[in-house]
Amino acid sequence: MEDDYYSRLRSNMVKHQIAARGVKDPRVLEAMSRVPRHLFVPESLAERAYDDSPLPIGEGQTISQPYMVAWMTELLEVGEEDRVLEIGTGSGYQAAILCELAAEVISIEKFPDLARQAGERLRSLGYGNLAIHVGDGTLGWPQQAPYDGIIVTAGAPSVPQPLLEQLADGGRLVIPVGPSGMQMLNLIRRSGGEYQASEEGTCVFVPLVGKLGWKRGRPA
Ligand code: SAH
Repeated sequence: MEDDYYSRLRSNMVKHQIAARGVKDPRVLEAMSRVPRHLFVPESLAERAYDDSPLPIGEGQTISQPYMVAWMTELLEVGEEDRVLEIGTGSGYQAAILCELAAEVISIEKFPDLARQAGERLRSLGYGNLAIHVGDGTLGWPQQAPYDGIIVTAGAPSVPQPLLEQLADGGRLVIPVGPSGMQMLNLIRRSGGEYQASEEGTCVFVPLVGKLGWKRGRPA
């Protein structure tokens, strides 16, 4: 009964917020229709989980707006064999979407509590192709590089060099760049030693804080 209720909200979300705004990749739309977003927000906000907005998840952080997740995931062009790195695990929702699409997902979160909660949630939902690490994602995760896709879900002052270096040949990096009020979503594609960048549109994320991120409100 409850499942029916949420799956109806979820299919409306996919239709009216995501497909209607131009996300076309059928694999992305399917993943967004499968992952139970209401289990990724605080219980008191479950009713609002499928609203067209971000929601607070603790530690002053947010779960991204559904459309933003879908748009960024489409830009990442995740293939079934791909290994993907996410910076900013947060609730683990974006990580779950990536787990539906990729062979392997590695996600880095700076807040230990958020990392632990997201890990428990994703395990209980049966996602086995994922590892979450606590650390500073502005340095990437060199231990398992290179990655076919890297997605940053916080706003960076500039593109951290280690992330470029950790991209596989043909790999894609999706990263919001700019100050806290609004950022430009950058898509960077590596081919050999060359990087081709495009600006895809504006977005609003919490700041990426770290060695190559924001420090006390100032760029690194
Ligand atoms: N992808 C998340 C939303 C992320 S909100 C979701 O689906 O719910 C941004 C997250 O980035 C926050 O949890 C924040 O703590 C984290 N973050 C910020 N700077 C970071 C850094 N340098 N390394 C790792 N995580 C970082």
